[in-house]
Amino acid sequence: MAYQTLYLRWRPSSFETLVGQAPVKQALMNSLTSGRIAHAYLFTGPRGTGKTTTARIFAKALNCVNGPTDRPCGECLNCRQITDGSALDVQELDAASNRGVDDIKNLNKNADFAPVNCRYKVYIIDEAHMLTTEACNALLKTLEEPPDHVVFILATTEPQKILPTIHSRCQRFDFHPITQEEIVAHLQKVAEGSDIKAEKEALELIAAASEGGMRDALSLLEQCGVMAETVTAEVVRSVRGIIGREILRELVYAVGQRKVSDALLIFDKLLMQGKDISQILIELSGYMRALLLYKATPEYQPIYVTDTAEELGKLAPLYSGERILAAQQIIHEAMSELRFTARGRITAEMCLYDLCREDNRTLKVLAARINRLEQELEAIKTQGTAVTAVSPDTVAAHRPVSQATPTPQRKDGPAEAAAAQELTVKGEPAEAAKKATIVSEAPKAAPAKTEAPAAATEASKAETPGITLPKPQPIPIVKPEPKPATPSKTETKQSPASVGPGSAAMEKPAPISPEPDVSVSAYTPYGGEWAEGDAFWAKAMERLKAERKNSIASCASHGSVIAYENKVLTVGFKMKFLCDRLQKPDYREVVEEVLLRVARVPIRLQCVVDAGGGKPAGAPAVKMQPAAAKPAPAAPDFPVSESTKKAMEMFGGTIHKV
Ligand SMILES: [Zn+2]
Repeated sequence: MAYQTLYLRWRPSSFETLVGQAPVKQALMNSLTSGRIAHAYLFTGPRGTGKTTTARIFAKALNCVNGPTDRPCGECLNCRQITDGSALDVQELDAASNRGVDDIKNLNKNADFAPVNCRYKVYIIDEAHMLTTEACNALLKTLEEPPDHVVFILATTEPQKILPTIHSRCQRFDFHPITQEEIVAHLQKVAEGSDIKAEKEALELIAAASEGGMRDALSLLEQCGVMAETVTAEVVRSVRGIIGREILRELVYAVGQRKVSDALLIFDKLLMQGKDISQILIELSGYMRALLLYKATPEYQPIYVTDTAEELGKLAPLYSGERILAAQQIIHEAMSELRFTARGRITAEMCLYDLCREDNRTLKVLAARINRLEQELEAIKTQGTAVTAVSPDTVAAHRPVSQATPTPQRKDGPAEAAAAQELTVKGEPAEAAKKATIVSEAPKAAPAKTEAPAAATEASKAETPGITLPKPQPIPIVKPEPKPATPSKTETKQSPASVGPGSAAMEKPAPISPEPDVSVSAYTPYGGEWAEGDAFWAKAMERLKAERKNSIASCASHGSVIAYENKVLTVGFKMKFLCDRLQKPDYREVVEEVLLRVARVPIRLQCVVDAGGGKPAGAPAVKMQPAAAKPAPAAPDFPVSESTKKAMEMFGGTIHKV
């Protein structure tokens, strides 16, 4: 008698012997006993979970001489013919190789004829997702109006690829991966019945390696049975190329201790044993996963296939959760690189080296660090300029001001600073601060144009300095009424006289307010302990990081506070893309939400490109002068009508003198 492979010899021939899939079994048996037979079924599930086998059993159950029954006899002619695949009325079609429209047309033609011996004609279409669209449409025709004597069983591993029109005409049954215990129990039975001596541990290893597929498990058992008299865990490992727990532990320990030399020696030893490089990485990754899950939930049983709780408990303290996650990323990158390189050994060695390094520096982490260092360097430079530019007491009192003030100055160069000084007596910090404000102001000034002609002139003046405009905000257009042109005019007329030296006169003409005061009040101080814009920006960053919104935090941390007024926090960015990124609603809203919690006041965030970079030196100074003379401070030091205040709050604007 010819040798039959294990999985064919042990193929279940009845519902009782089918391993696992209890719900599917029960439903099918019920439909058989109650006589409610559908004309199309869809069996879905991973490979080796019993879809085709169940389809055959079902065909037998339909056509057994005693049937339809949930217990086909297996003895009658129909049962025997279906089992050995010679029944004329039960046809198996492999859609992977017969996927064309002609194959299905043939099938349709045959389906019309009455069955030869059986009660039902059963068509089992395996890998049904491989059918072409035309073939599917042809099949659909028969499915729509099926002859009474025909039953279709479609089996597929990828149900999402089945046309919805076909899907909806089928009764769907989902086959699940078979559990570890079920596989082990079945393997034990098969081993006993086939004179294969196998250790329990070996069978467990086989079950774990086959990932719920019985066919894979039986094939592996068979292979191991041929390899050795007794199937031990060692045999299974060598057949599968599994590197083994003991040495894997050593490797994980060496990496955990950051001992590069040990890790490389162990890796070399494994290669000498003929282990596959990608297998080593796969198992290393699997062990890391077990460690991570062990740390998270030690009661999660599936991890103990990888190693015992005791061993995992020993190794777990070597790793932090973050480190394991970073390690997984490094290993996965190496694994995908392995597919494209002829020098896998180098890739794996680099990977191990990377895993052992001080902190697992992925590119992202590195890039973030470089950015931070660059910024710090920039800050150090800026600080140097700041100390010379602003009076020392100011710097001490308000660090954010010192940051906001010198930045434009530095960019404009000494020539412009000198020009500004000529134009306005002692006015250089005012100039610089004013410029920053205009940057923040511009978008709000723009919509004002639509409101009133009086405001328009003022707005256009504010815009003139050619500063990078953030996207216009749609909010002001919604409510144009509360800001009539007249009150704003009168107020702005009052302002120049009423503004005191201590006011928040950002755009205050320099001659009026003395130098230190202007720089101190470069933004409206916020009440309470949050008076310093930078301070609560920094707090917001901390909060973001604490909430693990790292990408937003790292983007936002590049900004420095330029101004805070009318509940609008203006943050400047050197790099436009960072500015644009943070300004987008998805990021901005998160930051605003955090700002709200930090300051306990709704604060709107506005990102601007700092100092409007790239302006020719001198040019802005000339343009600045009229602007410097005209705009009035927005500070509520002088009488402002309620409606204007509201409008300012809503639009976040400032009042300008016309
Ligand atoms: Zn029978």
